[in-house]
Amino acid sequence: MHNQSPSKRIHNFDEVPLGYTKDQALLEASRCLDCKNPLCVPACPVAVQIPEFIKAIKEEDMEKGYKIIYQDNVLPSICGRVCPQEKQCEGACILGKKHSPIAIGALERYVGDFGLSSQQEITITDNHQKIAIVGSGPAGLSNAYSMRKLGYNVTIYEALHDFGGVLQYGIPEFRLPKAIVKQEIDKLKTLGVHFEKNSVIGKTITIDQLFNEKDNQAIFIGSGAGLPRALNVPGENFSGVYYANEFLTRVNLMKSNDFPHHTTPIKVGNNVAVIGGGNVAMDAARTAKRLGAKNVFILYRRDMTSLPARKEEISHAEEEGIDFRLLLNPVAFKGNNYIVNQVVCETMKLGEKDASGRHRPIGTKTYQTIDIDSAIVSIGQSPNPILSRTTKQLETDQWGRIVTHDYQTSIPGVFAGGDVVSGAATVILAMGAGKDASIYMNQYIQEKRS
Ligand SMILES: Cc1cc2nc3c(=O)[nH]c(=O)nc-3n(C[C@H](O)[C@H](O)[C@H](O)COP(=O)(O)OP(=O)(O)OC[C@H]3O[C@@H](n4cnc5c(N)ncnc54)[C@H](O)[C@@H]3O)c2cc1C
Repeated sequence: MHNQSPSKRIHNFDEVPLGYTKDQALLEASRCLDCKNPLCVPACPVAVQIPEFIKAIKEEDMEKGYKIIYQDNVLPSICGRVCPQEKQCEGACILGKKHSPIAIGALERYVGDFGLSSQQEITITDNHQKIAIVGSGPAGLSNAYSMRKLGYNVTIYEALHDFGGVLQYGIPEFRLPKAIVKQEIDKLKTLGVHFEKNSVIGKTITIDQLFNEKDNQAIFIGSGAGLPRALNVPGENFSGVYYANEFLTRVNLMKSNDFPHHTTPIKVGNNVAVIGGGNVAMDAARTAKRLGAKNVFILYRRDMTSLPARKEEISHAEEEGIDFRLLLNPVAFKGNNYIVNQVVCETMKLGEKDASGRHRPIGTKTYQTIDIDSAIVSIGQSPNPILSRTTKQLETDQWGRIVTHDYQTSIPGVFAGGDVVSGAATVILAMGAGKDASIYMNQYIQEKRS
């Protein structure tokens, strides 16, 4: 797939990978072996019938290909762009053992984009029963799709003023154009799913009220993990130290990159330190570069092979001149008049492997100081506590994640899935949870009514 050139793209927010042409899609599809027992399908958390949709591409019947994907995946254009395919479907592709695996993500994107403007004919028989969903991220959207197909009257309540969760406020435009998120969501609206924005469940309206006043038969919580984890080091509260979620939200949702058209500027300066090594850190670093920073450093406490971000994001960041400074762990920020100007890092070395399978970083008690104008902390997120604090009977664990058994929470009729249960994970895992939870919700409602 062709990409926008690095020298050009660091000056704009347009999408980087340009997508397959028809010829490229046909050529790539022709490599698929159409295995009798395809390993790619069980490796996909929503079980897209991958060989079948690739076969449709080979037959040049893109509409059929789209229909096949859309049965199982309500957000194909999005997943084709952001899924960590190398760890899922492509990781399981038998061709990958000797050659490169089929580029399933790129093909999904191609077919997904083909279908964006067409509406699938899905027959829905209304069952006149209501359910509510908290949060419009991938978990909520996927649950809404499955429940709507079963005939439920579905309303999604979203705290923010726009829909899509991280797809909207977290992942930058240059990786996931917001027009695509909107088109995918509009399709759900056409299927009859209702959306309520600016509704913070737990504040605007409570879970009890959703049952007693709004007459919902069940509730699905997909409220994500939007609370940033702090480093807890001196100087972290200085001006110029951001948390990645806040930083990215200000660009993606508040359009601070488009100042003065949007009156919400953000200052990064010339030297920006991004702390962390996941997708969120890569997004923050590449965004800072596009906002005009000259030097953007990723400070990561392990080595290059341990970076948890998607391979593609790492190589795109490298191409854009992001400077990876490895085996460094920030221990303090220094500043002048409460404005950050330095970060102090301890040099680390790698020890034994820990439970995560990665080598444990160990401090060496040697330190280096780096001059910076701003820093973006990106070391993880946990669930926002608003809902659990205002819903007393809702059991959570020590990290604030909702405890579930078969997606059922400690409150009868309240189900949950996605990052709010698993902790920060991936789009497709959240979608898988939303889809699977619908089976248990439907069963619960039908048993209650019989
Ligand atoms: C910057 C960034 C980049 C990422 N990149 C990738 C990637 O490339 N590939 C990938 O697979 N994954 C990526 N992820 C992870 C992925 O986006 C998440 O795992 C996924 O979005 C989780 O989906 P969710 O529906 O559980 O939660 P979210 O997407 O977080 O959505 C939850 C929604 O619930 C709303 N909400 C919260 N509380 C309430 C409330 N009380 N009332 C009403 N609404 C509420 C929130 O406003 C939000 O809109 C990334 C994450 C971030 C932050």
